Amino acid sequence: MTEGRQTKDRQTDNSFVSECLYSDSLSAGIYVTASVLLEYLFCPRFIYFMNCLGIDQNEDKRFKVLKGREIHEGKERVNIDYLRKRIGCIDKEIGVYMESEKYHIRGEVDEVLTLLDGTMAPLDYKYAEYRETVFRTQRYQSVFYGLLIRENYGKEVKRGYICYTRSRNLLKEVQITDEDFVELQSMIKEIIDITQRCYYPKGTRFKAQCIDCCYRNICI
Ligand code: SF4
Repeated sequence: MTEGRQTKDRQTDNSFVSECLYSDSLSAGIYVTASVLLEYLFCPRFIYFMNCLGIDQNEDKRFKVLKGREIHEGKERVNIDYLRKRIGCIDKEIGVYMESEKYHIRGEVDEVLTLLDGTMAPLDYKYAEYRETVFRTQRYQSVFYGLLIRENYGKEVKRGYICYTRSRNLLKEVQITDEDFVELQSMIKEIIDITQRCYYPKGTRFKAQCIDCCYRNICI
């Protein structure tokens, strides 16, 4: 078991990895992080306001608080060896930084698990309670980390795990399909497109989010 191992140089040529949906000439040198993906999932216009107009979010607004909980505080470590055993984990690496030049993504995965069936899976800690469902934002963060693992280790990734530390370390499994990877690529493509072409994207479908959004005064 190797902890904190850096894997930037472990990219492999996978036959099962689908072709990238976006052109390298457009997106060369651009990397999307899980944090940016989270902003996009909250509302694509966040990418426009931040990356095209250079307007940062107000620090004390709700989204920043949510993001902080999801991305930063959730990194607190807990001993869940017994849970890993239950899901057939035979090896783990902790705090693994990875990049994928092909998919234009990078980030640090809390844990990279090797499972009994030969597949691998990300494990992500959330400093949050489990609220009857795995939210879309959390689910796609798992897919994001799954794609990083698939690219860097050359292993299949069919599931991810989320540990809700405020629900007594409840461990939830997320099924990850090839369609999820394709959908993630579409999201990354749109994030890069908005950033480079500075077009004004559609706002979120979930209008309840607009009520306390930090951009509501300038969002048309
Ligand atoms: S007000 Fe609504 S549509 Fe506009 S940026 Fe905020 S969440 Fe998105």
